[in-house]
Amino acid sequence: MTRAIFAALLFLVAPVCASAQQNRASAAASEKNDATVQLLKKLVNAPGPSGFEEPVAKIMVEEMKPYAAKITYDGLGSVIATQGSSGPRIMLDAHMDELGGLIRRITPSGFLSMQMLGGWFDQALVDQRWWIIGSKGPVLAVTGIRDVHIASPEERTKVFPRDSLYLDIGARSADDVRAMGVEPGDPVVPDSPFEILNGSQNYLAKAWDDRIGLAVMIEVMHRLAHAAHANQVFYASTVQEEIGLRGAITASDVIKPDVAIALEVGIVKDVPGVKPEEAQEVLGGGPGVFLWDASELPNRKFVTLVENVAAANSIPLQYDLITGYGDDSAAIQKSNGGVPTVNLVVPTRYTHSHNGILNRGDFDHMVDLVTALIEKLDAGTVANLRNFAPSSE
Ligand SMILES: [Zn+2]
Repeated sequence: MTRAIFAALLFLVAPVCASAQQNRASAAASEKNDATVQLLKKLVNAPGPSGFEEPVAKIMVEEMKPYAAKITYDGLGSVIATQGSSGPRIMLDAHMDELGGLIRRITPSGFLSMQMLGGWFDQALVDQRWWIIGSKGPVLAVTGIRDVHIASPEERTKVFPRDSLYLDIGARSADDVRAMGVEPGDPVVPDSPFEILNGSQNYLAKAWDDRIGLAVMIEVMHRLAHAAHANQVFYASTVQEEIGLRGAITASDVIKPDVAIALEVGIVKDVPGVKPEEAQEVLGGGPGVFLWDASELPNRKFVTLVENVAAANSIPLQYDLITGYGDDSAAIQKSNGGVPTVNLVVPTRYTHSHNGILNRGDFDHMVDLVTALIEKLDAGTVANLRNFAPSSE
């Protein structure tokens, strides 16, 4: 590129940068005044891969304590906040863990291999920034990538398998690594701070799965603290969902729910390359209710109740049927001799990656829907959901 062209390009780019800065400044101002944005930001930015959920648990306890009759824990670390002391036992569930990894091995030259936690794409792992939560605090790491200048033509189009990946933290030896407070077994999380996407209603972050479910739970809890309803509500923030729904198994053992609602992320079709039969939801189309996934069939009467409550409150509702999906409600529905469950979701783009996107309007509608649903539940409604006797006609 010649100097003259470069200068002309700079001239073109400068005003764009200035207006981008203004956009960012006004977005930052409105962000500061929005308590929900602050809550979402705090939740998604917290590091908490499976088995290391404590920073998220701390936020949940802080947020729920003023509205809870009591807060207890199961034997794996799930947080259970209770509201109300009589009536049907309603379990609301969202998981605290996110996709991440564990330090596996430290090489003599100071590189680190990583055991992944949760369902990652191999191509989502390479050339990314991560935080290792070491004993002396967070350590910034990158998954190094092969240098393109030494790659063969075939190599340029292929996926680098996870077993070939390593973390680079700027260390020159294993002793260097240890001096930074990093040891095998330390947790690793994506480095991907929350952003409002260019002043839109779409929010960009890691870990929407399932911090958005936790945020819904907190907002619903705040609303129900001032509303009359006939239930005991158990707000379960579970651990280790991404590695086998483990906290949902232990939390439902403790809670013994009559019915349960899982809060999750939904899978969207509104990006290029998704085939019509693969996904159903769109961003901004309202919350979703699962009709099927490979791990569970939701209770049919409970799904109908969700549809009726959404219609009565003019809340848009979408459907989700996804093959490669599992969630806490699959574990809860098989506990305690069987529990009617539904899985309600906030549609999300690019789940299980550094950069997920969801829509604020969908979140707000989800809070409305779950609040109205719990207000609709009472002893009679719950008994009907749990009644499997064939009708006599
Ligand atoms: Zn999830």
